[in-house]
Amino acid sequence: MISKKLIDLGVLALRQRNSRGTFKPHISIRFRDDSGDLRTFSIDTTRTLGKHPQPDAYLITHAHSDHNGKSAMLSPRAVCTEKTAAALEIRHDKKYVGSMCSLGDDIDIEGVRVKTYPTEHTAGATSFYWENDVGTRILVTGDVKDASKLPPCDVLITEANYGDPEDPSCHFADDLDSMKCALFESGPVAFGAYEFGKAQRAVELMRGFGYNGAIRMEARTRALTRSMLEDAGELAGLESGGEDDVFVVAPWDLNKLPWNVKKYVLSCRADYPYPTIKISDHLDVCGLETMVRKLDPEVTLVYHPGGHRPSKFSKHLNSIGIDSISIDQIGNVLSNEFI
Ligand SMILES: [Zn+2]
Ligand SMILES: [Zn+2]
Repeated sequence: MISKKLIDLGVLALRQRNSRGTFKPHISIRFRDDSGDLRTFSIDTTRTLGKHPQPDAYLITHAHSDHNGKSAMLSPRAVCTEKTAAALEIRHDKKYVGSMCSLGDDIDIEGVRVKTYPTEHTAGATSFYWENDVGTRILVTGDVKDASKLPPCDVLITEANYGDPEDPSCHFADDLDSMKCALFESGPVAFGAYEFGKAQRAVELMRGFGYNGAIRMEARTRALTRSMLEDAGELAGLESGGEDDVFVVAPWDLNKLPWNVKKYVLSCRADYPYPTIKISDHLDVCGLETMVRKLDPEVTLVYHPGGHRPSKFSKHLNSIGIDSISIDQIGNVLSNEFI
C-alpha cells in the first residue's frame, strides 16, 4: 500500500473539503519537525477559514491562478518568492502579506528549514524542499518546465498538466524555429500568450532571437513583464505603430488587433482559431517521467491540475515500477469540522 509507505516515511497527505462537502483539488502535508512538533504545510491552496486551525504555512509555488495565490496571499502564513509576491500584487491589486524569499534561498518556517529551487515554469516559480524528523526529504515542485536544478528526494509532490501518455497533446517539444520565422517575416505579427508566464517567456525568447524593437502589450501585461524580467527591452502600448509591429496579447484578444496582423497562439493546445506555435511552460509527459526517474523518490504524489491527468500519470508511473498515488486516492481530510 503506497499510502502506508508514505506514513512510514512520516508524511501524511491531506485533502480539503469545500463548503459543498466535495473535495478541493488541493493538498496539505502533515509531518513532524526535528523537535517532534506536528507541522502542516498547505500547498497551492486557498486559505482555510479563520475560525479553523491554520496550517503553519501556505506555500505558493507561483502566481498562476490555479495555484490559488489570490487567496493565500492574504494570509501572514503565505510563503513565496519576491517575484511571485510582486506578480500576485499586480495581478490581483491586493497587498501580499506573507513572507518572501529570493529564489534559491533557505527559509525558516516555524523552525523547519525549507530550501527553494527553480522550476523555470514562470518568473519566480519555485519548488520547496525540506526534511522531516525521520530525515525524509520532501520536495514540492508546483508546475515544472526544467527539472535540472531540482534535488533528489524521498517524497515527490508534483504535477501532471501534460501527464497522460496516451494523449498525443501530452507529447511536445518547443518549436523555437517556427516562432523565430514568424517574428521575422514581413508585416506586423502578434503572439497570443497569457499575461503571466507565457507572455514573459515570449519576450525572453524574442530578445534571445535578436529582436530589439518594441513589443506591444496591454498595460497590465507590460507591468508584469517589466517587474518580472531584468531586461525586457522596449515595451509599448497596443496602439499600432506601423508595418513592423510585434504584439503579445492574451489569446482571446488577438481578434481585437487589425486584420493585417499575422496572428499565432503560443500553446500546445489545439483548440484555438489561429495557428499555434508549440511553446510550453511545462514538461511534456516524457519530461515528467524523466524528472521522476532522476529525482528517484520512494513515493510520487501527483496533486495537480484538477481533472484526470494526475491519476493517469500516477497510474503510468506505477506501470513502470515507480510507486505513486494521485490526489484522488487520498482519503485523509484536513479536519476543520470539529473545532
Ligand atoms: Zn502554472
Ligand atoms: Zn498549474
